[in-house]
Amino acid sequence: MTALILDGRALAKTLREELRADVQAFVQTTGVAPSLAVVKIAGDLASERYARTIRKGCEEVGIVFQDHTLPHDTTQAVLEETLNALSFDRAVHGILLHLPLPPGFDANRAIAQIDPHKDVDGVHPYNVGLLALGQPRMIPNTPAGGMELLLRNNIPIKGQRATVVGRSVVVGKPMALLLLQEHATVTIAHSRTRDLASVVREADIVVAATGKPGLITGDMVKPGAVVVDFGVNVLDDGRVVGDVDFASVAEVASAITPVPGGTGPVTNVMLLRNVLQAARLQGLGVRG
Ligand code: NDP
Repeated sequence: MTALILDGRALAKTLREELRADVQAFVQTTGVAPSLAVVKIAGDLASERYARTIRKGCEEVGIVFQDHTLPHDTTQAVLEETLNALSFDRAVHGILLHLPLPPGFDANRAIAQIDPHKDVDGVHPYNVGLLALGQPRMIPNTPAGGMELLLRNNIPIKGQRATVVGRSVVVGKPMALLLLQEHATVTIAHSRTRDLASVVREADIVVAATGKPGLITGDMVKPGAVVVDFGVNVLDDGRVVGDVDFASVAEVASAITPVPGGTGPVTNVMLLRNVLQAARLQGLGVRG
């Protein structure tokens, strides 16, 4: 079997076009452009790169982008004051705090300062709680993108057995909850799971979110299963690979997300979609 490639770049393009039209309609109705404030601490190359990508994405769809880079020697108190001020600023609809923070900062205390209605990353306990209650509002972007890839490709989810490998707060756990919301029978595996291969082999939908290159191999996957790979691993030779051994798994799966070009490109659009959703939640235009 040669798997259908779940093309994240093509889907991201479609989603961006849809979002651009939705943002335009929102601006026409309200006279206000949705805006996103990105808060980061200077000195981290990855966060600089990520912020540039987000700025470009905002420009493409008509969202106002604000950069709030704090000096590398800033304090927890200043970080919290910044997030608190943005939460009260009516001109700001979405707030993204770049994580992880440098050592010495308390991310949970910082996140608690973000107004949950502006929490476009879906990391505030209020939004995490709503997702667990089955009332998702601000959904973390990466799993939201993974679900969009499944749904837009008409992959059956209801009644299917899904195994999510990885239980982080931003990827594995919310992905498991979103699959459950769509009525899959969900198993969550992690580093202490006994006999990972047999747990993965039971699944009609396999999700990998571990940061371990090539962890999931073809012999672990049930023929015909659908495989979603969130992994982004940079090898010593500079190649970027997923958590799934693409060559062997593509032979047995019915559909698979490639790395790069699978879940990654969709993630950023989901963030921008949350900014529009946040603007709606703040009483501007039609409520989302
Ligand atoms: P974390 O390191 O926070 O979590 C990794 C999870 O994988 C943990 O739950 C861990 O288990 C589990 N795990 C680690 N090793 C094994 C193993 N050998 N067998 C089974 N489970 C294992 O990572 P994230 O969730 O933040 O990220 C996961 C991957 O997704 C990374 O490659 C990251 O780069 C990528 N990513 C991709 C994004 C995208 O847009 N595509 C966005 C964000 C992240 P335990 O809990 O027991 O330690």
